[in-house]
Amino acid sequence: MSGKALAIEAKDVTKVFGGGSDAVRALDEVSVNIQENEFFTLLGPSGCGKTTLLRLIAGFDQPTSGSILLHGQDISRLPPYQRSVNTVFQSYALFPHMTVAQNISFGLEMLGKPKAEAAETVSAMLKLVRMEQLRDRRTDQISGGQQQRVALARALAPRPKVLLLDEPLSALDYKLRKDMQIELKRLQHETGITFIFVTHDQEEALTMSDRIAVMSQGKILQIGSPREIYDHPAERFVADFIGDTNFLLAQLLSSEGGRAQLKLSSGSEISADLPEGFSPGGSVTAVIRPEHASVAPGGSGGEISGTLENIVYMGTDTHYHVRLPDGGAFVVRSQNLRDESESFTRGQEVAVVFKTDALQVLRD
Ligand code: ADP
Ligand code: MG
Repeated sequence: MSGKALAIEAKDVTKVFGGGSDAVRALDEVSVNIQENEFFTLLGPSGCGKTTLLRLIAGFDQPTSGSILLHGQDISRLPPYQRSVNTVFQSYALFPHMTVAQNISFGLEMLGKPKAEAAETVSAMLKLVRMEQLRDRRTDQISGGQQQRVALARALAPRPKVLLLDEPLSALDYKLRKDMQIELKRLQHETGITFIFVTHDQEEALTMSDRIAVMSQGKILQIGSPREIYDHPAERFVADFIGDTNFLLAQLLSSEGGRAQLKLSSGSEISADLPEGFSPGGSVTAVIRPEHASVAPGGSGGEISGTLENIVYMGTDTHYHVRLPDGGAFVVRSQNLRDESESFTRGQEVAVVFKTDALQVLRD
């Protein structure tokens, strides 16, 4: 992380709304460093404080305590127009009676840019978002996806240092959302502007981001690359919120250097990753991703066994739903390869086999 310049630093930022017994702690001592030229995502369920943090960075609201720095300068008390930060809202907030070009030009003129310079920027932005053909169309006469592009062009036009995007794709249908995800990545790459993107959609976060901050109840639980977050969730909430996860109860037999020896409720003994702070003898929850396990015919060993309750064909994958003897459910996801000859039938006994090192103990 060293050597890269920081775009945004949030230091111990707390935001409390209201007072007395009605007080809501929307952000609770949040600290995060976001690098220049980074596609950074705030991910978490509704109400966890994502919009509040964006609004503080934008300057629409002020922290109760803590500070926010832009390129090393404390901007906590600066009004929005004195920050080189722009926001794309979920509702595009375009002027419906103006043309596409006028919508982009308007903000530039408000900033006092000379007409010729503004016109040049408008053309460059229309090219960037591939909307040159529609420059003279009124924005109430273009589609939702096209309005989204105009909103992006307008926000990028003044060349802010940081662009904030608050769930900008949630109003679009699935196909368009997928296209715009790629489009946003391209825009970030081509402009070199730091993007801070907010979503509650874990798949969107994983596919788009350089790094993700996972939030819950006003706190950041983990910051990392999509791969770090997915493969090494720091705690149970993160594992549960991102991707699908199987939870297994186990006894902690012994531990050494970040590895644990576990006894699963099925009786099998197996090793797993172990965070600090656990002592032998206690019961723990171990997690494993569905794609890190496989099913085998019953009686062929494996870490656990159970009854195959359901087989769901998903095109690229097949999901096997296994019912464990203790009543728990376990899902195995297996990629459908062309030469697959293995076949299972519902109701049969199966063994579940884990890939080495796939199991992790997590903090609650
Ligand atoms: P998210 O964007 O992650 O869904 P928000 O940042 O909008 O979450 O909200 C975080 C918490 O702060 C929620 O409990 C919300 O109800 C509360 N909150 C947000 N804005 C206000 C406000 N202006 N007044 C009171 N409570 C607020
Ligand atoms: Mg929000």
